[in-house]
Amino acid sequence: MKNIVLFGPPGAGKGTQATLLKEKYDLIHISTGDVFRFNIKNETEIGLLAKKYMDEGDLVPDEVTINMLKAEVNKNADANGFIFDGFPRTESQAKALDLFLTEKNTTINGMVALEVSEDLLVARLLERGKTSGRTDDTDEEKIRNRFNEYNTKTAILKDYYQAQGNYFGVNGVGSIDDITKRVSTVFDKL
Ligand code: AMP
Repeated sequence: MKNIVLFGPPGAGKGTQATLLKEKYDLIHISTGDVFRFNIKNETEIGLLAKKYMDEGDLVPDEVTINMLKAEVNKNADANGFIFDGFPRTESQAKALDLFLTEKNTTINGMVALEVSEDLLVARLLERGKTSGRTDDTDEEKIRNRFNEYNTKTAILKDYYQAQGNYFGVNGVGSIDDITKRVSTVFDKL
């Protein structure tokens, strides 16, 4: 199995790259943000709970997010592997993921991080907000809060995976095609 965490700050291009890479490597793409948005649209219990956090740019509590992620993985029991996009976002999520995969006799092969500067990302997100229909992309204050959440809770995961020898940084600035090529060079080795 090939299990990869696609990592990077909001707007780094994780969703775009995951959509291309899942085809190329025959992997299941799980975006926790997409699963939350699906639940919000369908007005499920998880959706109602997640909405108030997402609208503010805050992280949804770990327990809810971890249980949802496990359910998504379990739905795809015979997959070749997974691209985790937007998960884990806290150390406790990373630990839960390691434990969960160990129980399944598998592991994370690597974290591939798209590296892009914050100023470029705020501009990108505001641009995306004009067409994405995502309310968390239209308000600069909420976008800044998402970066605050990223910097205080998520960025440390670089150290977590680096300590396992599993961190692979990729320059996330350039054309979509160029970035796919850079990421593929790492995926091929994992
Ligand atoms: P994304 O689509 O990855 O940008 O996620 C959008 C929003 O969904 C985030 O700002 C969080 O509110 C929520 N979210 C997505 N993934 C997670 C996660 N792993 N942990 C907590 N909240 C999450």
